[in-house]
Amino acid sequence: MTTRLISADWIIEGFTTDDEPIIHRDAAIIVEDGLVTRIGPAARLKAEHPEAEMLGGEGRVVIPGLINAHHHVGLTPLQLGSPDHPLELWFASRLALRDVDLRLDTLFSAFEMIASGVTTVQHLHSRAPGTPEAVVAAGQTVMNAYREIGMRASYSMALRDQNRLVYQDDALFTASLPERLRPEMEAYFKRFTIPLNDQIDIFEALVASAKDDDCIKVQVAPANLHWLSDKALDVAGQLSEKHAVPMHMHLVETPYQKVYAQRRTGGSALAHLARMGLAGPRLTIGHGVWMSEADIDLCGETGTHICHNCSSNFRLKSGIAPLNRFLARKVPVAIGIDEAGINDDRDMLQEMRMVLRTHREPGIDAPFPSAAQVLRMATEHGAATTPFGASIGRLSPGCVADLVIMDWKAMTHPYQDSALPVIDVLVQRAKAAAIRSVMIAGEIVYADGRFTRLDRDAVLDEIAALLRQPLSEAERQRKELSRAVFPHVKAFYDGWLEGDESAPHTRYNSRG
Ligand SMILES: [Zn+2]
Repeated sequence: MTTRLISADWIIEGFTTDDEPIIHRDAAIIVEDGLVTRIGPAARLKAEHPEAEMLGGEGRVVIPGLINAHHHVGLTPLQLGSPDHPLELWFASRLALRDVDLRLDTLFSAFEMIASGVTTVQHLHSRAPGTPEAVVAAGQTVMNAYREIGMRASYSMALRDQNRLVYQDDALFTASLPERLRPEMEAYFKRFTIPLNDQIDIFEALVASAKDDDCIKVQVAPANLHWLSDKALDVAGQLSEKHAVPMHMHLVETPYQKVYAQRRTGGSALAHLARMGLAGPRLTIGHGVWMSEADIDLCGETGTHICHNCSSNFRLKSGIAPLNRFLARKVPVAIGIDEAGINDDRDMLQEMRMVLRTHREPGIDAPFPSAAQVLRMATEHGAATTPFGASIGRLSPGCVADLVIMDWKAMTHPYQDSALPVIDVLVQRAKAAAIRSVMIAGEIVYADGRFTRLDRDAVLDEIAALLRQPLSEAERQRKELSRAVFPHVKAFYDGWLEGDESAPHTRYNSRG
């Protein structure tokens, strides 16, 4: 067994329940068998472990590995041909996306995540076409890509049994289209329609393929209220219960989804889930932009988590989530980059700054998140939305050794006033270039700009070569269908927001 000793000027172990950081000065961590076994003064641990392989050193800052708690794909929709639209229209424009090899696609965003300090990803696989066997194989390809690069992943294949394009039954929507578009729309829906029982089998097969894997686990992802019948929601709850794994569900991402919930359930989406017994510590709500005060109270009371996808909410015109209200109610909030961040990449340090800055409400006494709260969101609270739970997101003895070694000088050169707390400087100034090494499960997978297991340039060249090929016939047809169906999708939502008296969470959400 190799013993590693990682020393640093500052080691951030984690946070107290009051968001106070636990910081060790001139400290070291002992890593044995992929686990943190000790944390304490560097001089003492060095004397007691002369055999240890030494990492880190002077001028370093060590933090727990970051957790991107909401992720879907590698190459971004923008790269593949879909510009940013309001979410409901974006579903239509995304029909045009090119097909990308799933292994290469997964590696592409894994490179970006790890290089920005992410050690665990919540991979929400939205959809895979074809037979149940093909869907299972797609899931296994994604999981294998994470194994290949050495990244920890909580994987899920979305459960979905209805309303695959608009917030209406697929057959009804198809019937509303001009006759010439119907066969292609029908064929598209058919590619992604799998009976609920088969989706249960797919879940079980995916769970089996990650059995006994310390770094890959499978959880449940009911895609969103409109995408699941009550029967499918029940199934999601049963699978989560049976396997004791969390659920991650998009919810009230846009005002249209709030209206949909009202029409379907007579109330709010979360109230409906709570009545079905699905709210609670096992549930994470992705987005939650349009939750009411009563919904936020319900999250606080039930221990339901929220994953805040700040950049995505901006890019798809979804609105600004009431983060300060979440924090005031002590709701555990994680951070997700979702499809891609504000720079159309997966830079977690950038996303943390987005969260820090977006919610600085005007007014001297108005609330705002602290840098420490944001780092806790990106570590411990993200961890709690995955099956890994408290074993990641902190550097306490017993936790797995997922950590990021950063260079203080690279963050602060040529000067930094020493009166500012280290976390405030780190969250506000650290760019990916300040990351020296990333360790996952005790193994260095990234050091000095290079991945230890894979040649990043070779993988990117492979992607470039594949996508240099002209569009396939199927890709060309989907592009055409996307263009043709787009105005019909837009027309479907005409008038949806009229008469909606919902109180805006922020002035940006106000239509008045
Ligand atoms: Zn999402």
